[in-house]
Amino acid sequence: MGFVRVNNRTIPKEDKVFAVSGRAKAAIAEKGKEAVIDATIGSLLDDNGDLVVMSSVMEAIGTLKPADYAAYAPIAGVPEFKEAVKKALFDKYTPQGHVAVCATPGGTGGLTHAMTNYIDVGDEVLTHDWCWANYKGIADEHGRSVKTFRFFDEDGNFDSADLKLKLDELASKKDQVLLVINTPAHNPTGYSLTDQDWDNVINIVNAASCKVVLFVDIAYIDFAGEPDEVRSFLPKLEGLGDHVLVLFGYSASKTLTAYGMRCGATVCLAKTAEEAEEFTKAVGYTSRSTWSNCNRSAQVVMGKIYSDDALQKKVDEERRTYRDMLLERGKIFEQTLRENGVKSVPFTAGFFITIPSDDPAAVCAQLEKQDIFCLALAKGIRVSIASISKEKCVKCAKAIADLLK
Ligand code: PLP
Repeated sequence: MGFVRVNNRTIPKEDKVFAVSGRAKAAIAEKGKEAVIDATIGSLLDDNGDLVVMSSVMEAIGTLKPADYAAYAPIAGVPEFKEAVKKALFDKYTPQGHVAVCATPGGTGGLTHAMTNYIDVGDEVLTHDWCWANYKGIADEHGRSVKTFRFFDEDGNFDSADLKLKLDELASKKDQVLLVINTPAHNPTGYSLTDQDWDNVINIVNAASCKVVLFVDIAYIDFAGEPDEVRSFLPKLEGLGDHVLVLFGYSASKTLTAYGMRCGATVCLAKTAEEAEEFTKAVGYTSRSTWSNCNRSAQVVMGKIYSDDALQKKVDEERRTYRDMLLERGKIFEQTLRENGVKSVPFTAGFFITIPSDDPAAVCAQLEKQDIFCLALAKGIRVSIASISKEKCVKCAKAIADLLK
């Protein structure tokens, strides 16, 4: 593939995902949609392979006025948006502590906020070994790097022992550690931390000998299951000690299936007003000096949806239909793998399933010969079940199982 070196960064000449999805698109152009399985796309597609666009969200967009598009937004976001994010994130739960919100261009911006403000240049951010590849890119772009703990032990359970080991290693060298956990419906495995996993995380973080900033990347929360169930970890965070600051990375890209509107937020849940105020100043400074303010129209839409019970209900119900479609694809994919004697990396819900492999690149190359396009990761094959129908899930799972057996 090859790399270029620019200002101490090692930049791949070609983005891996774009390369394989380009080959899938070429195959579709040649052979037609039906003949090709493109399981590379990180957006939700319906069973015809068309992008899911929620009509209730589009209706809300239709009510915007020209100035909602044209005017600048405040750096932290318009007030209605900030309220909307709190409602979208916390839902029925009333957070204990001081909440502050800052708009970001999608969930990606939240990671930039966290990495630039809560660890120094040259430091490592701690996250799970299975992770969204862009964590490494964002860290690298800002002179930071990624250190990983093993996400799953040999029995396929959340590896809290390795989390403790790696956190303590960093804590022995640093005054402050940034820990990023992507749950529920983690990318790329689809794993959601259980309540027991969360108890373990909280105990480990509480025992750390330095300050810990715990960033929970909840990009996929609204496609992970029942709203109350996927938020059951929130009250547990009240058990965190005073040396822990909680941040959330919220993405409207997924929640509203509006990826191109580039809307998200970093949310801080602090123990003290001073800490929340420091967050607001610090991340606001980062925003101002990187992307500046964010897309105002997207914020106004979020504000409209979450301040109107009837409209929110409509959006929630429409999303539920698509969420259930996605959950069903996941079940069928897993079941087909199981029936064919193959296990995925622990999966709960979400856009992706990953199947462990000793040689993912070779398996993906073989799959491409059958017009099945998946992403080869370092230790597995990532399948976007968000982008393929139930029927294609069965076909894809069978093809992978056949190659692995
Ligand atoms: N976090 C994870 C784990 C993701 O997979 C993504 C997008 O794919 C994001 C955050 C950010 O998404 P966006 O910036 O499009 O909102």
